Amino acid sequence: MTTRTLDHLGRPLGVLRLSLTARCNLACRYCRPENQDPRTLLTHQQRLKLVGVAAQLGCRRLRLTGGEPLLAPGLVPLIQAVKALDLVEDVALTSNGVLLDRPLARRLKEAGLDRVTISLDGADPQAVLRMGGGHSFTQVLAAIGHAQAVGLPVKINMVVMAHGNGDQVVPMARLCRKLGVELRLIEYMDVGNRNGWRPQQVLTAAAMTARIARRWSLQPVGRRPGSTARRWRYLDGGGFVSTIASISEPFCGDCNRLRVTADGMAYTCLFASQGKDLKPALDPRQPDAVLMQQLGSLWRQRQDRYSEERASQQVNPAPRPRPVEMAYIGG
Ligand code: SAM
Ligand code: SF4
Repeated sequence: MTTRTLDHLGRPLGVLRLSLTARCNLACRYCRPENQDPRTLLTHQQRLKLVGVAAQLGCRRLRLTGGEPLLAPGLVPLIQAVKALDLVEDVALTSNGVLLDRPLARRLKEAGLDRVTISLDGADPQAVLRMGGGHSFTQVLAAIGHAQAVGLPVKINMVVMAHGNGDQVVPMARLCRKLGVELRLIEYMDVGNRNGWRPQQVLTAAAMTARIARRWSLQPVGRRPGSTARRWRYLDGGGFVSTIASISEPFCGDCNRLRVTADGMAYTCLFASQGKDLKPALDPRQPDAVLMQQLGSLWRQRQDRYSEERASQQVNPAPRPRPVEMAYIGG
C-alpha cells in the first residue's frame, strides 16, 4: 500500500536519487569523484528493496546517478527489475556519456529506461578539456546520438563556472538546438569541499539566459512544482532551454528528493553533512517494515532548506559542518 509521506515542512517524497557508485572515469573541476571499494556497494536485492520501500512511501520517480553510473555493476538488471515490478512511474539516468555506446543505449532502452541526462560542459573539445572532461567531447557527442537513435529522450546538463566555461553558454545553446536536445544550465553549487567553490565562480541563471536571449528570443515557461529546472522556450521554435538556479533562486520550498549513496547512506538534502545509514535495514533478513519505519521517520523529520538559508545570509554565510562530496551523494 502506498502512503503519501510528508516532511516537517509539508513536502512529499517524490524522487529517489540513487547513486550506483562514487567512482568516475572523469574528474570535472567542480565535482571530484572518489575511489570506492566495490565491496561497499549495495547489492541488487538491496537496491530493489530500497526502491520498493521508497515507492510505498509515495516516491514516484527514480533517478540513477553516481559517480558515473555506467561504471557500476548491475545497472541494466536494476532498471529491468524496477520496471518489471512497476515500482515507480519513471526511471531516469544521469551519466557523463563516455561509456554509452550504441549496444548499451539499446540495452538500457529495452530494459525500460525512460530517459537520460548526459553531462557536457562545452561545445568543443578544448572547452571540455578545460573543465576536466578530458578528451571525451567526441565520445559524448556520439553518446547523445546513440541515445536518440534508440529512442531515449535526452537532456544535456552543463555546469557553468563563470571563469571556466562561461564563454560556452551560447555555443552550447547553439549545439543543443542543432541536436534537438534541451540544455539545462546549472549554477555551480557549493557541494562538497574538494572543488574550492567560491561565489565569484557562479554565473547566475539570469546572466546565462540574458546571454542566450541576446541571440535568440526566449519566452519564460516557468518551473513545475518539485522540479529543479526553470524552462524557457525559443520563440523561433528551436525547442527549450532551462536553468537550475540553486544559488540565485533556491527551490527548497518544494524539494521532494531523497538521495541515497551507493553504500546505502540516505541524505535528505544535497548540501547535507550527515546521512542516515540504511545498510542494516537493507539487510535482506530484515523485513521491509524496518526500512519503511526508518525511511518514513527520516522523511517526516526532514527540515532541510539549505539553499534558502544560504541565500538569506549571502553577505556572511554561517560556517557549516563538512558537507558530503557531489560524486558521493550523486548530484
Ligand atoms: N557522472 C554523472 C554525470 O556527470 O552526469 C552523474 C553524476 S554527477 C555528480 C550528476 C550531476 O551533477 C552532473 O550533471 C554534474 O554536472 C552535476 N554537478 C557535479 N558537481 C556539481 C557542482 N558543484 N555544481 C553543480 N552541479 C554539479
Ligand atoms: Fe564524474 Fe559526473 Fe563528477 Fe564529472 S560530474 S567528475 S562526470 S561524477
